[in-house]
Amino acid sequence: MFGLGKRICGFCGGKVPGKRALRAPDRNGAYVCKACYAQWEREGRRCVECQTPVAGAHDVGAFFERRAFGHADCGGMKLFA
Ligand SMILES: [Zn+2]
Ligand SMILES: [Zn+2]
Repeated sequence: MFGLGKRICGFCGGKVPGKRALRAPDRNGAYVCKACYAQWEREGRRCVECQTPVAGAHDVGAFFERRAFGHADCGGMKLFA
């Protein structure tokens, strides 16, 4: 459907190979590319929901409706490499 091994980023719409994408197992076929993740890291890892940084000990979550990252505890879907 999307071509061999390519994933569609739910945030930027980019097509990336599987190894360049993080997956959200709770949502079928949902991926976020590592470029979007790196951009968010550069901007300070701020949670879109509570506006505080997501520290290393917290699980990173993806808010697909808002195309933003945040805490999994704030309602984001957990991401896995
Ligand atoms: Zn992306
Ligand atoms: Zn939060």
